[in-house]
Amino acid sequence: MIQLSPTSKEFEKFDGISLIVPVYNEALSIAQFCQSVTCALKGLCNFEIVFINDGSRDDTERTIESIMHDDSLFPITLVNLSRNFGKEAALASGMQRARGEAVIPMDVDLQDPPELIPEMIEKWKAGAKIVNARRIDRSEDSFFKRTSAKIFYYIYNTMTEYPIPKNVGDFRLLDRVVVESILTIGERSRFNKGIFNWVGYETSEVTFSRPNRDTGSSKWSCWKLIKLALDGLFTSSTLPLRIWTYLGLTMVFLSMIYGLIIFFTTLIFGRDVPGYASTVLLILTFGALNMIALGIMGEYIGRIYEEVRQRPLYIIRSINRTF
Ligand code: UDP
Ligand code: MG
Repeated sequence: MIQLSPTSKEFEKFDGISLIVPVYNEALSIAQFCQSVTCALKGLCNFEIVFINDGSRDDTERTIESIMHDDSLFPITLVNLSRNFGKEAALASGMQRARGEAVIPMDVDLQDPPELIPEMIEKWKAGAKIVNARRIDRSEDSFFKRTSAKIFYYIYNTMTEYPIPKNVGDFRLLDRVVVESILTIGERSRFNKGIFNWVGYETSEVTFSRPNRDTGSSKWSCWKLIKLALDGLFTSSTLPLRIWTYLGLTMVFLSMIYGLIIFFTTLIFGRDVPGYASTVLLILTFGALNMIALGIMGEYIGRIYEEVRQRPLYIIRSINRTF
């Protein structure tokens, strides 16, 4: 077994496809996963499996080590993270280590069926740089997960400039040029689905029905999912910061109309309760001014956020010239 130092970047390119598989307490799923992918993909082209052990506390590491020398399986790289950093960080680390001409992030629980990969490769060979795998039915998910996913996609796609395709998880094929582009994005708070989509490139799609988890149980708690959703929304849009200006301006407009109504009703019908109209109008006006002030701050903070995260200004797909 070759042991690289944690910071070592020495690796040669690999003429094939890298499967990036984050694992967290998945000792029970690993052997089955390796056998299934080998069985489904052997002979298609070269594959390597890059396992990212995301701080597992069970036998995940030993289980992977025990099958690393099995020649009947695809070559395996194991990256052990020092603790549980979460799937988004694990995937980022896998992309950094993967050497293939294309990479495919996959779950270890066989919910991302390896049988779909030949179709993805076909579309990739036909020219697509990204091939998404879209779930056409979510009946395997609980009612809560289905509804919350629907609400999330609706809010996300209304709020952001770059809508993400619905029901497409991390399971997708990414060409080497896409991976290199993704690696230029160095931000800490990562929402991979948004990043995969942000980089652009020609995208194609295959569809599938997601099977139930093969072994073990989901590693996503409700809180982790909520955190991921909020990360997604807040890293992809500054609208929550800026919306206050628009709300404030709307409130100014409404309080002006309300002011006029009070003015004319007082002229026509006389005063109702002394002091009421002026108090309400003052509250409305200052509330609106506060909102506008918050919104203006939001405009600045949104711009500061764009600056500090330093996403590339653009990504070049190709350059043609005549000399
Ligand atoms: N995972 C991980 N770190 C985490 C949570 C999950 O590496 O903190 C891995 C997990 O081992 C699995 C994949 O991410 O290979 C997807 O997790 P899971 O199947 O629990 O998600 P679900 O299918 O329920 O959305
Ligand atoms: Mg799963």
